[in-house]
Amino acid sequence: MAAEAKKSDFGGKAHVALNDPKLRANFRRAMDGLMAKRAIQFADPDEWKSLRARGAANRARALARLPELLEQLDARCTANGIQVHWAETTEEANAIVLGILMKAGAKRVIKGKSMVTEEMHLNAHLEAHGITAVESDLGEYIIQLAGEAPSHIVMPCIHKNKGEIAELFAEKIEGQVYTENVDELTAAARKALRGCFADADAGISGVNFAIAETGTLVLIENEGNGRLSTTLPPLHIAVTGIEKVLEKLDDVAPLLSLLPRSATGQPITTYVNMISSPRKPGEKDGPQAVHLVLLDSGRSRVYGDTELGDTLRCIRCAACMNHCPVYTRVGGHTYTFTYPGPIGKILTPQIEGLDCAGDQPHASTLCRACADVCPVEIPIPDILVRLRTEAVRPSATAGVKGGGSGRSAAETLGWAGWKTMYASPLVYGLATWAMGLVGNLMPDSLPMLKQWTSVRTKPKFAAKSLHQLAREKGFSDE
Ligand code: SF4
Repeated sequence: MAAEAKKSDFGGKAHVALNDPKLRANFRRAMDGLMAKRAIQFADPDEWKSLRARGAANRARALARLPELLEQLDARCTANGIQVHWAETTEEANAIVLGILMKAGAKRVIKGKSMVTEEMHLNAHLEAHGITAVESDLGEYIIQLAGEAPSHIVMPCIHKNKGEIAELFAEKIEGQVYTENVDELTAAARKALRGCFADADAGISGVNFAIAETGTLVLIENEGNGRLSTTLPPLHIAVTGIEKVLEKLDDVAPLLSLLPRSATGQPITTYVNMISSPRKPGEKDGPQAVHLVLLDSGRSRVYGDTELGDTLRCIRCAACMNHCPVYTRVGGHTYTFTYPGPIGKILTPQIEGLDCAGDQPHASTLCRACADVCPVEIPIPDILVRLRTEAVRPSATAGVKGGGSGRSAAETLGWAGWKTMYASPLVYGLATWAMGLVGNLMPDSLPMLKQWTSVRTKPKFAAKSLHQLAREKGFSDE
């Protein structure tokens, strides 16, 4: 079992989120802005189409050769002086990172942004062993101060407004007075973090792309914190999922354009860091040791299915969630697990199991907005439908962890009755006639109707069927 021994409660949490006007306003404002900025970036449909096709092809080509490329990456990194570690589970990855830090005598860690380390709950693991990890990405720093989890994979504190951040800083940062001036708030965080960079025994980061051809780790960011975390401390540990590999350096170019434009509507990020080795003799900066931890955590299982394997193409741009009519209304914490929004709805059930997160594929209108904006053409709605099917398949035939867990005897019986009714015109006619007679007598509080009728008016059954009306008007010869 992965580190998150949790169960999704999407319905319950969505109910709470929908009744929180401040949260809804924070998300609405932020998501409207992001959608508008992205639309400006991709104003030329031909350019979007061709760039997207290149990005998708590069990711698909890498995944098609994933086992081979991972071995090549390991060999190239090792030849470059980067020490490579493989972890099957998040627990193993945590143990590897802890072991490296303990061996180096590290007590203070500065972290660049990394969703994989969120997936591992690395900070809590290190803290339990006496090692302090400070998040240096501004959004991550804010939620770390608040003791919360990220609500968005690119902008982790998007659920908070200026006033909430001002209050938090005034309470948690020594000497900080309440201000809603964004420049002053940023300066306060920068000042607090400077000392952490200087004092850190080690830096931990994620990886956006790992290049098999050259053994290069590519990290993109806007604040410079990623570069400081990976160059200033004497030890750097990069942690990534096994799917982030690319075949060659040339493959990065379209993705470096697609990712920031899709994510924040920027033409490119302020920093593009490429790390290929520890500090070499004669170099003035950089860590003396670099480690790369490659985490599986269910990804191999996802990879084994031709259709579901497309999930691994994801470059974590968050465009799907920015455009999702569900995510934009309920926010990221509703999804319980690390990855929210459409990508979370397809990734989490596959990694954690449909028995833990089987409600998530249902939290979608299948409007296809996510698929339309995904820069690597992941067919998210098709995968959602497949996962819904896997959840109710007889478990012996299910192809996903926890498959069949959504199957209930009552529902199976209900669908069998439905099939019988639609297969026979006689039974169908009798059933619709009977429903016309007694349908309106069904109370709203009937358990099978309650989820619908608690928020909507129960529709009235017509006294006569369409066929009857047509016959009476002389439109039917039945
Ligand atoms: S699924 Fe597509 S749109 Fe969503 S985060 Fe991944 S790459 Fe971006």
